[in-house]
Amino acid sequence: MKKFLTLDDLQAQGKVVLLRADLNVPMQDGKVTDDTRLTRLVPTLVELSAKGAKIVILSHFGRPKNKDASLTLRPVGKALSERYGKPLLFVEDCIGEVAQKAVSEMNNGDVILLENVRFYPEEEKNDKNFAQAIAMLGQAYVNDAFSCAHRAHATTHGLATLLPAYAGRLMEAELNALSSALEKPERPVVAIVGGAKISTKIDLLNNLVTKIDVLALGGGMANTFLAALDNPVGKSLCEREMKDQALRIMETAKNSKCQIFLPVDAVVATEFRANPPTRNLHVDNVKDNDMMLDIGPDTVAELAKVLATAKTVLWNGPMGAFETPPFDAGTVAVGKKVAELTQAKKLVSVAGGGDTVSALVHAGVDEQMTYVSTAGGAFLEWLEGKPLPGVQILEERAVALRKAS
Ligand code: AMP
Repeated sequence: MKKFLTLDDLQAQGKVVLLRADLNVPMQDGKVTDDTRLTRLVPTLVELSAKGAKIVILSHFGRPKNKDASLTLRPVGKALSERYGKPLLFVEDCIGEVAQKAVSEMNNGDVILLENVRFYPEEEKNDKNFAQAIAMLGQAYVNDAFSCAHRAHATTHGLATLLPAYAGRLMEAELNALSSALEKPERPVVAIVGGAKISTKIDLLNNLVTKIDVLALGGGMANTFLAALDNPVGKSLCEREMKDQALRIMETAKNSKCQIFLPVDAVVATEFRANPPTRNLHVDNVKDNDMMLDIGPDTVAELAKVLATAKTVLWNGPMGAFETPPFDAGTVAVGKKVAELTQAKKLVSVAGGGDTVSALVHAGVDEQMTYVSTAGGAFLEWLEGKPLPGVQILEERAVALRKAS
């Protein structure tokens, strides 16, 4: 039995369903620049609408202190309506008379989008009265915003305590993918962790090494580990002050029988810009003026061998400064290898968090992973092993609702 209720459990016909989505999409000049979150919401909309629900979408957008016209959800609603292929009414408030009137005029199958819930500071305070003012609009709550599940806010947590609560299809897909990668994975599990710094990923690394078989490090954070092992790192991005933490992570890994894979060579340059003169060096041979900006070809080949033995691959963070050519080559090569093994059904691959998705898009392999999470912070907190309040409450409510029925 699933730990949470899903749309399969919801008798939606004629009900007003409050759907928490994450419409906090990147915008430039009034246009959505990455519509992944919108397109991934569409299956839940289609299904609820076909079941005859009256769908009321709730979301935050940006970080307004109070009402802030520049952070209205109106243009996002327009973009969502285009992806959904049907009209969607935008309503200028998320509580009170304006919202109540709009909901009372809905027909079965209709979709409306309420204004940015963060126009009320009560949202982020998980204020009970605010949650109640929203809850009175509907009869059921569906959370499809896994990417907001690490926050206990009124619309990600409080609402679930007040109404029967269900996971939407996107939330369900995220939770299924994540649990198949870390809770009950097929082994060996290899985690590829790259990115800039270990200071932002200490909890994540400490948690992962107790659960997986190989931790493959790349990017700037690998430099910190190499320096901790007294390798020369020149002028590379490196947190020397994190030496003790890096050594401790390696000790925990050893005790948990998790192998740590570190780069054996690097692509170095003496200046950080696009297409400077570069050299491939063994990590022992890095000179004082060198910056290690990408993993080298020998590291890619060694990592490919490790990946060939894996049944599950988790990926967070690029292998180098991938935004600046040619330091994208390592990330692209590793991305292609993981994609190839995924497509050949040799392993399950789950990627997500921060820059990882753009790195995979850049490598042209985002569609070839088993699952790419739309969540940034929530994905990282999940990798850290922290309970996500928005998920926990769905599980608690499922227990209560099953008991009651
Ligand atoms: P993070 O948000 O921690 O995943 O870090 C991603 C950032 O790390 C990207 O902007 C990369 O350009 C950067 N990065 C990765 N490897 C390196 C490196 N070797 N040197 C400098 N920056 C790097």
